[in-house]
Amino acid sequence: MAKRDYYEVLGVDKGADENKIKKAYRKKAMKYHPDQNPDNKEAEEKFKEAAEAYDVLSDAQKRARYDQMGHRAFEQGGGFGGGAGGMTMEDIMNQFGGMFGGGGGGDFFGGGGARRQPRGERGSNLRIKVSLTLEEIAEGVTKRIKVKRQKQCGTCDGSGAKDSSSVSTCSTCGGAGVVRQVRSTFLGQMATTTTCPNCTGTGKMIKTNCSNCKGEGRVYGEDTIEVNIPAGVEEGQQLSMRGKGNAGRRGGPAGDLLINIEEKPHEFLQRDGQKLIFDLHLNFADAALGTSVEVPTISGRVKIKIPAGTQSGKIFRLRGKGLPALQAYGTGDQLIHVNLWTPKTLTKEETALLEQMRDMENFKPKLEKGDKGFFERMKEYFS
Ligand SMILES: [Zn+2]
Ligand SMILES: [Zn+2]
Repeated sequence: MAKRDYYEVLGVDKGADENKIKKAYRKKAMKYHPDQNPDNKEAEEKFKEAAEAYDVLSDAQKRARYDQMGHRAFEQGGGFGGGAGGMTMEDIMNQFGGMFGGGGGGDFFGGGGARRQPRGERGSNLRIKVSLTLEEIAEGVTKRIKVKRQKQCGTCDGSGAKDSSSVSTCSTCGGAGVVRQVRSTFLGQMATTTTCPNCTGTGKMIKTNCSNCKGEGRVYGEDTIEVNIPAGVEEGQQLSMRGKGNAGRRGGPAGDLLINIEEKPHEFLQRDGQKLIFDLHLNFADAALGTSVEVPTISGRVKIKIPAGTQSGKIFRLRGKGLPALQAYGTGDQLIHVNLWTPKTLTKEETALLEQMRDMENFKPKLEKGDKGFFERMKEYFS
């Protein structure tokens, strides 16, 4: 993929001063920060892209080089060390530490105080499948689903300790849950904060474990979860509910519940995106003489008129009888696809009647201008 222009990435013009660049970066970084966009690959890429752009544009020497040569300045063999590519998330977090002072990334993100609260390991994500009828998809539905998952231990309220006297502050991190190191990086001296290895981020040491959860702060159990499914979802889509997955260890944040959508086949209707398709089988007499028939729709049966002289393959459209768009305006149509039904067995009497008609003038196929062939109809269908 072609790299985007660094100025464009940060949304500043070429003449922007250091301060402007810093502000622009701060804005992008906050928008695309992984904490605000969990499990969002695209946001993560944008976050990294912005960090990389900032890394270059905030350094006078690198910036001059970039202005002159563009991205080539940092390519392999470009003759310029300390390229910006391949920054890891840790590098980027370190960059914040140096950039905005204070401890770690915590202060940087407004209201991000929680980031610095000592806390245990995050629980894992939980995946479930939800199977829906087209009727449920049309309206949206709330499902109550039983799941087996790790829940916070009720005996110790997630702490993992037998009682308050069996908890002490971690001596390695002094209760902060993180340890700080100062080290040099390509942006100069940087303070790094990493999860305390002694207490795994909780800031506490436990002398006597809670007997119910054996010190884990969570227990395995069954839970009923209410899942709100919006109208218009489709097979293969995934919804996520933050914090409804497995409980974290020793009071750590819970993982997410990931819901995979499955569609139950409908008795009469086929789905194609927002369109619903119904195959109508008509006998020759009805098609030739015209009639009215009832067809099923997602919201009950509807009577439609079949005009005299209807050809096999004709498609009728019921506006707005399809499915709604997911989180958008507009509803699709239902298409009624006419198939002429040919009898497979005939009585003597029926055979005699058909024999009489066989050679009549109007029974010879004569294509008129308005009669569409297969390809024409396909075009119409996909329009
Ligand atoms: Zn417990
Ligand atoms: Zn610790």
